[in-house]
Amino acid sequence: MLEKLKKMRFFDIKIIAKTQLSPSFTRFTFHGEGVQNMLTHAPDQWIKLFIPDANGHAPKITSQEQYKSLDAAQRPPMRTYTVRHLRPELHEMDIDFVIHGDEGPASAWAIKAKIGDVIQMRAHCHSVFTKPAGCIWLPPQNTTEFLLIADETAIPAAIGILEALSQYKTSPKVTAYLEVPHKDDRLDTPVWPELELNWLVRKQGSHQYNQLLIDAAEKLELPNHDNFYAWIAGETAAIRHIRLHLTDDKNLNKESLAFQGYWKLGQAQ
Ligand SMILES: Cc1cc2nc3c(=O)[nH]c(=O)nc-3n(C[C@H](O)[C@H](O)[C@H](O)COP(=O)(O)OP(=O)(O)OC[C@H]3O[C@@H](n4cnc5c(N)ncnc54)[C@H](O)[C@@H]3O)c2cc1C
Repeated sequence: MLEKLKKMRFFDIKIIAKTQLSPSFTRFTFHGEGVQNMLTHAPDQWIKLFIPDANGHAPKITSQEQYKSLDAAQRPPMRTYTVRHLRPELHEMDIDFVIHGDEGPASAWAIKAKIGDVIQMRAHCHSVFTKPAGCIWLPPQNTTEFLLIADETAIPAAIGILEALSQYKTSPKVTAYLEVPHKDDRLDTPVWPELELNWLVRKQGSHQYNQLLIDAAEKLELPNHDNFYAWIAGETAAIRHIRLHLTDDKNLNKESLAFQGYWKLGQAQ
């Protein structure tokens, strides 16, 4: 684990565009020298952001050890985000932020951040990784049928996955449930006949995060063959509930399931 962390790179990135995609999603396009060395192992590749202080000053973290050596009170908040697009040749990447109010440092920063502002990140870089890291999307090659379950924080990753699946030589059968706060958060995705895409829109202002995903998972019928792979990500308690339902009640083989809690209701990450 320590070796892995040592191989990650810390560098500054600067906002060069900020685009409101929908009521809940804002896309940040970042530029930085370090981006040219980044890589994504999978469409759900995550990176860490170190959130600037109240004056907008970006932290100066040099290594994981140095970060850990700081007093807890001095440590800049570190949050996890998905690389939505990576353009290393241009030293650019996009991250889609869910704006969920100003109670969390990352969301609060995203509300105020403007073009030219700098933030620090930790990312996976070329030539140091031999095995995929920083992602859970690792379907076996012979998979022909997929299930995706994601809330808004996991939608950047889920749409990246749909884009990857749309490139398969033989169109895979895919069922996707994507839960969002607002009807206009239904972002563009590729479509194909074997894709059943279900956008689940919460009641306006509802804080029943992931309940629609839980309901959908409970109604699901899983296929009766082994070439099946499910990827589920969202609020941690809900994902745990769905995971246990799929494995314990619906007998899904654990090897056919990738899951991750992306955030914890009522708790800072
Ligand atoms: C692998 C991975 C990839 C991720 N990718 C993305 C991504 O691409 N885009 C993205 O927006 N998020 C993504 N997330 C989720 C993001 O890291 C969390 O939402 C994080 O908590 C945001 O930090 P914060 O500082 O805004 O809030 P925190 O300080 O962590 O939390 C403060 C409060 O806000 C609440 N909260 C946090 N997130 C939400 C939310 N979405 N809706 C409502 N309440 C919330 C918490 O429950 C807590 O009460 C990802 C997480 C993981 C693990």
